Amino acid sequence: MGWEFSTDPEYQEKLDWARRFVEEEVSALELAAPHHHHTPPEPWLRAVVDPMKKEVRAHGLWACHLGPELGGAGYGQVKLALLNEILGAWSWAPTIFGCQGPDTGNAEIIAHYGTDEQKAEYLSPLLEGELFSCFSMTEPQGGADPRQFCTTARRDGDEWILNGEKYFSSNADKASFFIVMAVSSADVDAVRGMSMFLVPADTPGIQILRPTMYMGEIPGEELTHAHVRYADVRIPATALLGGEGNAFVVAQTRLGGGRVHHSMRAVGVATRAYDMMCERALSRTTQGSLLADKAEVQDAIGRSWTEIQSYRLLVLQTAWQIDQAVDRGGHSALRAEVAAIKNAGARLVHDVVERAVHIHGALGVSNEMPLAQMWQMAPAFGLWDGPTEVHAHTLARQLLKRHSPAPGLWPTAWLPAARQRAAEKLAGMLAAKAAWEAEHPPPAPDELGGIGAWQRYRARQAPAAVS
Ligand SMILES: Cc1cc2nc3c(=O)[nH]c(=O)nc-3n(C[C@H](O)[C@H](O)[C@H](O)COP(=O)(O)OP(=O)(O)OC[C@H]3O[C@@H](n4cnc5c(N)ncnc54)[C@H](O)[C@@H]3O)c2cc1C
Repeated sequence: MGWEFSTDPEYQEKLDWARRFVEEEVSALELAAPHHHHTPPEPWLRAVVDPMKKEVRAHGLWACHLGPELGGAGYGQVKLALLNEILGAWSWAPTIFGCQGPDTGNAEIIAHYGTDEQKAEYLSPLLEGELFSCFSMTEPQGGADPRQFCTTARRDGDEWILNGEKYFSSNADKASFFIVMAVSSADVDAVRGMSMFLVPADTPGIQILRPTMYMGEIPGEELTHAHVRYADVRIPATALLGGEGNAFVVAQTRLGGGRVHHSMRAVGVATRAYDMMCERALSRTTQGSLLADKAEVQDAIGRSWTEIQSYRLLVLQTAWQIDQAVDRGGHSALRAEVAAIKNAGARLVHDVVERAVHIHGALGVSNEMPLAQMWQMAPAFGLWDGPTEVHAHTLARQLLKRHSPAPGLWPTAWLPAARQRAAEKLAGMLAAKAAWEAEHPPPAPDELGGIGAWQRYRARQAPAAVS
């Protein structure tokens, strides 16, 4: 038997340390210096942040999503998933552990497809958290459907020229470089006609039109998701990442494993909300009893726990399957499972956080609990890396590949035909039954009346079989 639900003790020790460190140290940083985790640190921040990163390294947990060739620990997806569950509930934690988006994904792209010069210039400082980056794909007229993308890349001698506008490009105003998806050939379909480019932030022609904020964020203090214009942006031929027409292959490099990590971060968020919900239920008395004694509150707690645990197991099983499928392409061999967890995570965060907010009453919606901010983030889980519906379509398409249409007019489970097949398969048994019944005719109808008549009849037929 190969089923296993425990973590090896050595890694569990690391996780225990990470949880303590995040809850005691990182949470303090989050409260004292919110909104700075995507900005190159000023000296006053560096004095605290750098030693924290050093401690993470000393525990072998720095940037551990990376392969060993990039200085990571080479952990598989299960270990990464368990770590991300801990990091997910605090926005500073991924930065302190060297795995903050969008930089992690961009680092993986450069590691896979960058030139030696690009790696030397960007990769190491990006991994060190010395500089930040932007992934620029979504456009104002369409995000979920790449066929709507209009930003173009035109080859001009040894250069490419980019023109177009991108929307919700996170971190654009603080990034040292952009990874931009653009249409390099309009003659083929969208999937094969797009390419990915690495564009240094100081390249002439990049304009930040508007630093769009996420709802509830304070202008000037938080991660922005800018509307960016690329106007005749000239970049060298070497800026092309992964070859012409390969933008989607390149994009998958950053999305696949990341979706498992994001899903476990969703578990972390939901669990934090759930813990608050339980504490409140055990602390607050109204109309003569604790909230914990009210049936509706008990239902909210029970449902939340069950939903979190079911989802967590699905994510961990997906992570485990990806680890088993490394030779078959890892996450790309598990498109259905990855789509399922991306899809269900958004619902989990939404439902559990909403219940936690509600059970806290007015305090829950106030700015005196972390819940309101968690609640504001809930819709984003269903949008980044593509809306829930798109993943639902992928999920259904992938699942249906595991099935076939019925061979004829009737479903294979159609009972008349199924009974016929069963009769043919068990013809011998049915013949024996007919012979036995011929020897043991049923009683006349008048014999069947009255309480216990059937038992009396059975007792006459086969006394030993009736107790
Ligand atoms: C916090 C956050 C950070 C982000 N960061 C980045 C970033 O750094 N870089 C970047 O490029 N993008 C980023 N995005 C954008 C994100 O990738 C897009 O929001 C997402 O792909 C959806 O695109 P859209 O917003 O244009 O919505 P649309 O494509 O207009 O979709 C809107 C809605 O239409 C419905 N819909 C869409 N397609 C379908 C379908 N096939 N079937 C049924 N219904 C459908 C869904 O309800 C969907 O939510 C970020 C988004 C958020 C919320």
